[in-house]
Amino acid sequence: MKQVEQQSQVAWTQHLLNWYDVHKRDLPWRESKDPYRIWVSEVMSQQTRIEAMRPYFENWVLQFPTLESLASAEEDTVVRAWQGLGYYSRARNLHQGVKEVVETYGGQVPRSRKEMESLKGVGSYTAGAVLSIAYNLREPAVDGNVLRVYARLYNIHEDILGTVGKKVITSLVEDTMPYDRPGDFNEALMDFGASICIPKTPRCESCPLVQDCKAKAEGTEQVLPIRIKKTKVQSVQLYVGIISTVDGYYLLHRRPKEGLLQNMWEFPSVEGGTAESRKVELIEGLQSIGVTVTMERPMAKEVTHIFSHRKWTMKGYRGEATEVAIDMPNPIVLEGDEAVQQAVAEGQIIPLKEDWILCRKEAFHVLPWAGPHGKFIDLC
Ligand code: SF4
Repeated sequence: MKQVEQQSQVAWTQHLLNWYDVHKRDLPWRESKDPYRIWVSEVMSQQTRIEAMRPYFENWVLQFPTLESLASAEEDTVVRAWQGLGYYSRARNLHQGVKEVVETYGGQVPRSRKEMESLKGVGSYTAGAVLSIAYNLREPAVDGNVLRVYARLYNIHEDILGTVGKKVITSLVEDTMPYDRPGDFNEALMDFGASICIPKTPRCESCPLVQDCKAKAEGTEQVLPIRIKKTKVQSVQLYVGIISTVDGYYLLHRRPKEGLLQNMWEFPSVEGGTAESRKVELIEGLQSIGVTVTMERPMAKEVTHIFSHRKWTMKGYRGEATEVAIDMPNPIVLEGDEAVQQAVAEGQIIPLKEDWILCRKEAFHVLPWAGPHGKFIDLC
């Protein structure tokens, strides 16, 4: 069984190489096996389409034809030559990495993965690409292209953006790489992924591996690869006012009926802007509900709270309510909960306008607190 599996692996890798021999893209950095040029082309092709980067590559090797010429150039000159490609840190890292090769390796791009990956800006993919293409070493170069192609060929339903998916596929690439033409094999995968097994709609009708493809056999070629994107967490700074009156009440706000922490109680707060602009916004906002405050120093406590999509960094500021208008129009309606009604009846809670109240610390426990704000209660 194992032997049959190995034979079929040999079959598809050979089919791929046969296809590559006919359809290989004609690219300027493929004219030689110069590791420096291959390195430059790999760095340039990150985040840039091959066709768009071609003229940049040609100009680059005119200006810096050798590793030494790039190493001895001024950084400004290097960055200027990169203009139009964006992501200037890539140019600076390449420049730095090339200098390291000159200083540490006598101008010879190292032949070991460990040494390659120790160079500035060189990651696992670039190291694998340079070592396999320039030196024909059997080193995988696994990028998004390769992950997609293998996920389909082997019908792998692991998330290719996750550690497990990457590990499974990298190990498959290591197992299936041919011994005789590893560089060509990596380049063949690049070309195949760019022209046949493309991201959304693979061109299976023209695919030389259609008989070898497990996803095609199972009908999952449109579903694969699985990519589970992590949600970006938005960072928000909050200015939180712990504002009390001279007779021991604290100013509290009920959050809106919809959205995050709906209907829960919080200290007055403002998000975004600078600390100063948030302070002004808070003071003006409270004036509109008839409360005049003076804000004092920041408190020592800072609270961080992470929701699924947001991260709040909350800094508490102590303040004093010097004037509070009690009988404003549109007073808050506190209905339902018996404990709240009792606290109102006993004068522990004083309803104000809209969604605001004054509340003594002793009555805090009758209110449902917005969790992150509850962390400031011990400072009251
Ligand atoms: S048959 Fe389709 S999905 Fe499978 S490798 Fe070829 S192009 Fe990709």
